[in-house]
Amino acid sequence: MNKTVTLQLKCIYCGESFMDPSHKVDGYPGIKLKARTGDITGIVWLSSVLGSPKFESEVEFTKKVVARFSCPNCSAELTSTQTCDMCGALMARFKLSDGGKVRVCCRSGCKNVWLEL
Ligand SMILES: [Zn+2]
Ligand SMILES: [Zn+2]
Repeated sequence: MNKTVTLQLKCIYCGESFMDPSHKVDGYPGIKLKARTGDITGIVWLSSVLGSPKFESEVEFTKKVVARFSCPNCSAELTSTQTCDMCGALMARFKLSDGGKVRVCCRSGCKNVWLEL
């Protein structure tokens, strides 16, 4: 059995945890974020399992669409100026609960993750 690595993420601005134990994805607490694409805004739950492209959302997002993520608590934009080296979309920036930082690709289904430890 493979060891599952999960990410515990929080907002780089207000420090609020994004982990939502009441909404599990892949069997672990989901990463709850506000997502916007075009004029659609909704809550998404990303999988906290490292490398898993799985996510759930309350609204239907087109596959491969690039979303802009913001904090559900303070509404700050989490999108960074860095682009994904796999698909060219913008990446969002998060803080890990143990102090490091992580960048996640904003394109649904890409799930390119960079750890900045
Ligand atoms: Zn925040
Ligand atoms: Zn990407």
